Amino acid sequence: MSLLDKLFGGNEGVSGPSTPQYSHVKIHPQVDHGIPPTGVGFSGGTLRCKCTTNPVVVRITAQTAHNHVCGCTKCWKPQGAIFSQVAVVGRDALSVEENADKLEIVDASAAIQRHACKGCGVHMYGRIENTGHPFHGLDFVHTELSGQSGWSAPEFAAFVSSVIESGVDPSRMDEIRGRLTELGLSPYDCLSPPLMDAIATHVAKASGALK
Ligand SMILES: [Zn+2]
Ligand SMILES: [Zn+2]
Repeated sequence: MSLLDKLFGGNEGVSGPSTPQYSHVKIHPQVDHGIPPTGVGFSGGTLRCKCTTNPVVVRITAQTAHNHVCGCTKCWKPQGAIFSQVAVVGRDALSVEENADKLEIVDASAAIQRHACKGCGVHMYGRIENTGHPFHGLDFVHTELSGQSGWSAPEFAAFVSSVIESGVDPSRMDEIRGRLTELGLSPYDCLSPPLMDAIATHVAKASGALK
């Protein structure tokens, strides 16, 4: 494009910065059509597994935090999605209300013990039992399992490179990171800077490097 064109219009075919270029790239059903806002004053609700009879019901009595989409291979994802969506909430705010007997721990040796429904496979919550873990006290939940709206909105994308481990072609990573950026979900290949800083601070205090 010539300088004159730039100064005086003539911008046919040139996309503005806000025009989505990657809307054909599917990330997760909860974000693909725009991200619903966090509800002001929202203070929790119930999560329900996918079983049509005797579903597991989990009650959460607080707003969630640090909601994000996650590309790791451990988080539960809905059919066809390449990312999960996962948030945290204080463990004291979470209780299993119905059909707790259907839950089993996916991998008891993992740092996050994911409690899944034996009927439908959905993970109802992930809990950290190691009291020395930086995130001990927080449970991981998928708020898409709730019929209520107003849960904290996703803020970033974690473990983006890990989607390759679940079979996504590496040649797609540019468009996947492009779509995440377009949605306002900054793509990180670990957790977000505030969460990585929180982990490092915990480790530094444990070692004595920080008082
Ligand atoms: Zn179920
Ligand atoms: Zn994950």
